Amino acid sequence: MKFTVLGSGSTGNAILIGANDTRVLVDAGLSAREIMRRLALVGCDPAQLDGVIITHEHGDHAGGLRVLLKSLSCPVFISGQTREAYISEHTNRSSDEPRKRADALHDRTEEIESSKDFKIGAIDFHPFTIPHDAADNFGFTATHAGVCVATLMDFGHITTLITERLRGCAAIVIESNHSRDMLKACDVYPWELKQRILSRTGHISNEDIADWLRDDFDGTARHIVLTHLSQRANNPYVAKISAEMALRERAPLFQVDTEITLSFAKEPLPWIEL
Ligand SMILES: [Zn+2]
Ligand SMILES: [Zn+2]
Repeated sequence: MKFTVLGSGSTGNAILIGANDTRVLVDAGLSAREIMRRLALVGCDPAQLDGVIITHEHGDHAGGLRVLLKSLSCPVFISGQTREAYISEHTNRSSDEPRKRADALHDRTEEIESSKDFKIGAIDFHPFTIPHDAADNFGFTATHAGVCVATLMDFGHITTLITERLRGCAAIVIESNHSRDMLKACDVYPWELKQRILSRTGHISNEDIADWLRDDFDGTARHIVLTHLSQRANNPYVAKISAEMALRERAPLFQVDTEITLSFAKEPLPWIEL
């Protein structure tokens, strides 16, 4: 099993997961052109893709999908609620965008549910609901030959369900959106937006991730990849150091040798093989 983060941040997210000959794109929040370029950079022929999973309708996860579908032949795995929200969500777009989106998805979707297992090629997906202000957002664990990778972005707080589902994973790709202090001090964001980000259905902070790593992380994962870092309200090195310090603060009996890796908005990570 292997994966790479093609790009991640407030401006767009896309992850690629592979096992044997199966390749699955998770989210299409970068432009179609960027996704195609980055697939080539990591050596993935778009014709090889077995599916695109859309976790939720927000532009930074689905904004590139419609145009991308022109270059792909694989199905889109999307929940009914997310599909509806994706089609009707057209802020700042021309008025026929909903129709174009509906047309693009016509006969191209495999309807999934945010809490029901499904399979794409050699990979089993186990989705679970995460708290976010979207129609039906989910995170998931993906398993192949007993190896498990978790992916979750865009959630406002860590639930018991999340903590449970992250146990036993070999790698965890997780949001570390903002530093609470940097967000509060950020004078570019209006107050309402800060409230939205900080809410229990907004985005997760470095501090929340640190608390989880210190107190609730089971220690199995060898790799934790931090994603969806805010360009204005976070700093990659602050996010990384915060996570690494939290790991060091674990009780002596629960010390781990987990590696913290940063993902970037503008370039893909090298493949991480498990
Ligand atoms: Zn979102
Ligand atoms: Zn997002």
